[in-house]
Amino acid sequence: FYSRESLSVNNKDKVIGKVIILKNVTEYQQLDEAKTNFIATISHELKTPISSIKMSLKLLEDERIGDVNAEQRQLISNIDDDTRRLLLITGELLDMAQVETGKLQLNFGSTHPQNIVDYAVKAIKFIADQKQVEIKVKCDESLPKVHADLDKTTWVLINLLSNAIKYSHEKSVVELTVKKHKNDEIEFSVTDHGKGIEEQYLPRLFERYFKVPNATSEQSGTGLGLAIAKDFIEAQAGKISVDSEIGSGSTFYFTLKRAIAAA
Ligand code: ADP
Repeated sequence: FYSRESLSVNNKDKVIGKVIILKNVTEYQQLDEAKTNFIATISHELKTPISSIKMSLKLLEDERIGDVNAEQRQLISNIDDDTRRLLLITGELLDMAQVETGKLQLNFGSTHPQNIVDYAVKAIKFIADQKQVEIKVKCDESLPKVHADLDKTTWVLINLLSNAIKYSHEKSVVELTVKKHKNDEIEFSVTDHGKGIEEQYLPRLFERYFKVPNATSEQSGTGLGLAIAKDFIEAQAGKISVDSEIGSGSTFYFTLKRAIAAA
């Protein structure tokens, strides 16, 4: 049940009554669950044929199959880009559905923050190079290990770096810093010097499907990345947040628990 209370006051601000609204929302909840299951099934089903399109494209590029002229090669490359995007979207939808249905599984381990940083920077290097964005890493070797799911945390970091590069100017710098935070936490932060985000939108950034209005078509995306990042970090007992100033850039932060010393 959903309930809401409100007080009725007269023109002298004297309480003259109370209204209580009770609404049975079981049906809505069931509909919501059905929708999430539907999204999970569809995105799962789509992954296999899309992956096979990708494999066929790889074969088409193989010279042994036959000659491909420059125009055809360009078309193949366009299809390849779109297929990669499709895979990304279906992957994000699947992750979101897993979180909502409580099926998200985490593989906790004890790992040095440098490992997470290395994987993420390596994965994003190609995109950074294309825009000539330099990623400056500050991660002290003396930092303690974190208690984390390596894959999910790397995914979050790649997502933050990818956004930072996407909304940065060419040839600028993105800083990735890892440091101690409170006694038992490690903080990762990604700072860009790009366009920044208006204050009014900051509280909504981690909502599903939210995209800052007026973003140009170049900045295409599902609006799911940050919502999933929040789910992944909170599932590891961490916190994710943002600071931004329009025109100067943004910093996204997340924390992870440090691993127990013996681990
Ligand atoms: P998307 O897949 O659309 O990028 P995200 O959830 O990752 O979705 O981000 C949500 C929105 O937040 C983006 O559409 C963009 O408007 C804004 N945003 C995220 N990161 C940044 C950033 N570093 N600088 C400016 N805007 C950002």
